[in-house]
Amino acid sequence: MAETIPFIDLQAQRARLAEPLEAAVLEVVRSGRWILGPEVEACERELAAFAGAEHCLTVASGTDALALALMAAGLKPGDAVVCPAFTFAATAEVVAWLGATPVFADVDPASFNLDVAGAERAVATARARGLTPRAIIAVDLFGQPADHAEIAELAAAEGLWVLDDAAQAFGASYRGRRLGTRARLTATSFFPAKPLGCYGDGGALLFDDDDLVEPLTSLRVHGQGGDDKYDNVRIGMNGRMDAIQCAVIRQKLTIFEDEIARRQEVAAAYADGLGDVVAVPRAMPDRRSVWAQYTLTLPAGTDRDAFRADLQENGVPTAVYYGRALHHQTAYARYPVAEGGCPVAEDLARRVVSLPMHPYLAAEAQARVIEAVRGALARPRSGTPGAGGR
Ligand SMILES: *Cc1c(COP(=O)(O)O)cnc(C)c1O
Repeated sequence: MAETIPFIDLQAQRARLAEPLEAAVLEVVRSGRWILGPEVEACERELAAFAGAEHCLTVASGTDALALALMAAGLKPGDAVVCPAFTFAATAEVVAWLGATPVFADVDPASFNLDVAGAERAVATARARGLTPRAIIAVDLFGQPADHAEIAELAAAEGLWVLDDAAQAFGASYRGRRLGTRARLTATSFFPAKPLGCYGDGGALLFDDDDLVEPLTSLRVHGQGGDDKYDNVRIGMNGRMDAIQCAVIRQKLTIFEDEIARRQEVAAAYADGLGDVVAVPRAMPDRRSVWAQYTLTLPAGTDRDAFRADLQENGVPTAVYYGRALHHQTAYARYPVAEGGCPVAEDLARRVVSLPMHPYLAAEAQARVIEAVRGALARPRSGTPGAGGR
C-alpha cells in the first residue's frame, strides 16, 4: 500500500524555518520577558501591517479574541447575535458565554459562508422573540472571505455591528485588501492547524478604531485600569498570548505570503483535476482564499463513510468539517434558528469532505489525491457514477 499523505504537514514548514525559529524562541526564553513586552509588541505591529489594520492585539486564542470583542461591545442577556449554522462551535460559544443568544442563519452552498438573506431572516426571528439584535458574526469559512460588503449593508440597515471571525482566514483578501478592516473587529486564531499557526494556542484582534484600544487592552488583562493597575475598572479575563508564541508567529510571517501562493497552486490543481466529477469549492472572483481547508461537496446520496474509507485505503486521509450543523449540536439545540431553518447547513453537514491541504503538498501527492477521489467516486459503492456537480 502507498504511503499515507499527511492531511496537514506542519513538519515540512518546521524544517524550513528550524534555525531562525528556534533561535527566536530561545532568545525569548533567555530574555525573561515572557508575558507581554517587546516580542509581543513587535508581533502586533507586524501582524497589523500585514493585515493593513491600524491596530492588532494578540490574545491567548481565537476563542478569546471573539469573546473579548463581544465583551468590548457590552453584549448582555437579551441581546441576539446572528451566527452561521455551519461553522466551528467557538463562533456561537462566546455569545452564549455572555448570556446572550446566538440566532442561527443558513449559509450559501457555493461559498459555505453566511447567506445574507438568511442573516436578515435571523434578525427578524430575534426581534419576533423579543430579543435585541446587536451583531452579526461573519465567518470566513475554510479561508474564504464572507460576503463582507453585503453583510455590512445589512448591518448598517439594521443598526448592528459586525464581528469578523477570520480564525481560518488570516491573510485572505476581499476586493484587493486583506481581512482585518472589513468589520468593526476581526478575530483570528493561530492554532497550529490554521493557515498561520503558532506552536500552541494564540490569536489576535485586528481593528482600525482608536477608541477600541483602551477597552480591549484593559479587558485582556482582567479589566485593569490605565492609571492604577490594581483598580480593575471592568470585568475582564486573562487573555494574553505568550511572548514565545509571538516569536513563532513572527518567524512564520516571513514566509506566509509564499505559503499562501503555494496554497493557491494546490487548490488550482484540485479544481482542475476534480471539477468535472464533484462540486469543488468555488473561489469567488473578488476574493482570495487562504485555503484553510479544501472542501468538496459530494453528490447527494453518496455514502461518505465508504468514500472516505476508499480514499484512506489509497493513503489519502480526509476530514469532515463539519459533520453536524451547530443548531443540531446538543449544547446549541436550544437556541433559535432563523425563520425558514438552515436546510443548506444541514445538507452540507451530510455531504462535505475535506482533502489534504497545506503549502508543502507536492505535485505527485496532489495527483495521488485527485486519482483517489476520481476512483472512489467512480466506484458504485460510494456514489452515483457521473453524478458530479451540485
Ligand atoms: C479555530 C476557530 C475558532 C477558535 O480558535 P481557537 O484559537 O482554537 O480558540 C473560532 N472560529 C472558527 C471559525 C475557527 O475555525
